[in-house]
Amino acid sequence: MAVLQMPSPTNPGHELLQSALAQLDRAAKALGLDAGLHRYLRQAERTLIVALPVTCDDGHLEVFTGYRVQHSTARGPGKGGIRFHQSVTLDEISGLAMLMTFKCAVTDLPLGGAKGGVAVDPRRLSRNEVQRLTKRYTAAILPIIGPEQDIPAPDVNTDEQTMAWIVDTVTMMTGKHSPEVVTGKPVDLGGSRGRTEATGRGVAFVTLEVLRRQGTRPDATRVAVQGFGNVGSVTAKALAQAGCKIVAISDVSGGYASAAGIDIERAIEHARRNAQRTLEGFGGVSRISNAELLASDVDVLIPAALEGQITGENVSEIRAPIIVEGANGPVTAEADRMLADRGVLIVPDILANAGGVVVSYFEWVQSRAQFYWELEEVETRLEIYMRRAMELVLAKAKAYDCPPREAAFIVAVDRVASAISKRGIFP
Ligand code: NAD
Repeated sequence: MAVLQMPSPTNPGHELLQSALAQLDRAAKALGLDAGLHRYLRQAERTLIVALPVTCDDGHLEVFTGYRVQHSTARGPGKGGIRFHQSVTLDEISGLAMLMTFKCAVTDLPLGGAKGGVAVDPRRLSRNEVQRLTKRYTAAILPIIGPEQDIPAPDVNTDEQTMAWIVDTVTMMTGKHSPEVVTGKPVDLGGSRGRTEATGRGVAFVTLEVLRRQGTRPDATRVAVQGFGNVGSVTAKALAQAGCKIVAISDVSGGYASAAGIDIERAIEHARRNAQRTLEGFGGVSRISNAELLASDVDVLIPAALEGQITGENVSEIRAPIIVEGANGPVTAEADRMLADRGVLIVPDILANAGGVVVSYFEWVQSRAQFYWELEEVETRLEIYMRRAMELVLAKAKAYDCPPREAAFIVAVDRVASAISKRGIFP
């Protein structure tokens, strides 16, 4: 069993793990949770670390490190994405796995929490090298994944192509066609309609709900979105379609701003045509830095890139009164406290970006039944799950007189702890 609270100050995922633990601790205190159950939830059920040798195109051998962490399977099989990024560490993946447990619980899915990752910068590899790495990683974690054990999905720098390679590997190794082993697959390989857009659509949905509850019209709302990948670009597009003015966007290539509003369709098309899939060279707008984007004078700020973007160091520069967490863990615990003191409303990651896992759940259901839904059915059901979770979290926030983040954890921790108690500790 991996102990999650190991400090390692030079580790970039350390902050994310500490903040996930701090949120669990706060919820446990508010709920008066049994001390033993609390200690159990601070740890991952299972951690696998694998060495991944890959023969590169020029014949030399590279070795990467991969992880799969299952934080809790108390409410169902583990569920969580796979990330390919050079900064991946065990702390980061452990923190993200824990967030997945609580994300699935807050949306009331019959699933637990897991996460995987490989420490690699995939942009430095050819497509064939990434394919070999993905297949080797899949073979290495195969003993602990499966539709009734743990179901991976895409995350940073992985996509439906990655999932198709995973399906192929499992099918080849088991001799059984295995589409239900992952979600986020291509639709013609058993993926769900609407999965690719689900996270961004969910982020846009909760943003518009917050505005509606405050009596603010979308067309009177200026928004900045950090990150223009799957989550950021779909969120920006959905909000622009609802009438919001997207005045700043950014990605690894930097930031792009226009007070008159950015044409998001044109930005998406630009990134799609760009070999690196970035906004590099996007014209007709001002260039800004990512730091300037975060400090934009906007009504809503949506960090949708990576964790740890709003920290104790830059929090005083944040001007947006509403932050909707498209990314996982974009606000550190220290910054979170300071923003709460200033009355900034934060819609927390485990609620705001849960749309992806909700439709992943729908995909798992469809793959197992081999019966596929129309897009309209997926979108209608997604809205039902997001609305229900949001209403419950806001009601808890009122009842406990606490910010939505704490309320979301109270709902989630209570559900997971209750599942463990009802099952009884084995043996
Ligand atoms: P992605 O790889 O599609 O996009 C990531 C984006 O962030 C890219 O545009 C990249 O250029 C940008 N980026 C990277 N470093 C940056 C930096 N320093 N400054 C500004 N931009 C930077 O990944 P994604 O799937 O969109 O995931 C983004 C976040 O959302 C992650 O935290 C992920 O865990 C979370 N998330 C994703 C999903 C999903 O369904 N894809 C679901 C829930 C949460």
